[in-house]
Amino acid sequence: GKYAKVMGINFPKLTLDRTIEVLSDVIEENRSELFHVITVNPEITMACQKDTSLRSIIEEAGLITADGVGIVMVSRLRGGNLPERVTGYDTLLRLLDSGNQKKWSFYFLGADPHTNEKVCEVIRNKYPALSILGRHHGFFTQSEEDKIVDEIGTLKLDILVVALGAPYAERWIHQHKSKLHAKIAIGVGGSLDVIAG
Ligand code: UDP
Repeated sequence: GKYAKVMGINFPKLTLDRTIEVLSDVIEENRSELFHVITVNPEITMACQKDTSLRSIIEEAGLITADGVGIVMVSRLRGGNLPERVTGYDTLLRLLDSGNQKKWSFYFLGADPHTNEKVCEVIRNKYPALSILGRHHGFFTQSEEDKIVDEIGTLKLDILVVALGAPYAERWIHQHKSKLHAKIAIGVGGSLDVIAG
């Protein structure tokens, strides 16, 4: 089949290359609904075993990837054969690269204030043809959150990158899904810290 079931989660058998093709298609197709991408790491896998709300967030996602060598190994023992681990970090780097070629628009939400500013500078230099329409650090108050959601909603983004930590980022995207008006939203864990250096 097209899926491998590990710990009750149905992972599509996609390589990183194929994942990026799927996401490029989503952007070109101009869908009306936000496409939520979740890179399911061991932390999320464990958390959703007893957290039914997190499990339904995963089930409702547009695409999930297997972000753990353990998940890939278990799939192979069971003959489900996931082709490879697909991390949030690798997916983000490839999206930045494709975005630079295809002039996609991005918003970077999350990380501490200094890192958030720094990472946007680094990305602007390295990927000058993509556009960064906005950014905000990930330590905001409730009233700031409302403004951030409204601002993001007006931008009609291609990709909203959310670095708030897992599974908080996944819950955040799901909670605000209908107001974000982005084509794709993806939680990327600590990736912005890594890119900012
Ligand atoms: N983070 C944030 N707001 C928060 C908590 C965390 O912006 O309220 C950021 C943190 O600065 C880091 C990222 O979320 O850049 C990922 O955090 P962590 O490494 O703890 O999460 P994981 O990699 O396990 O998803």
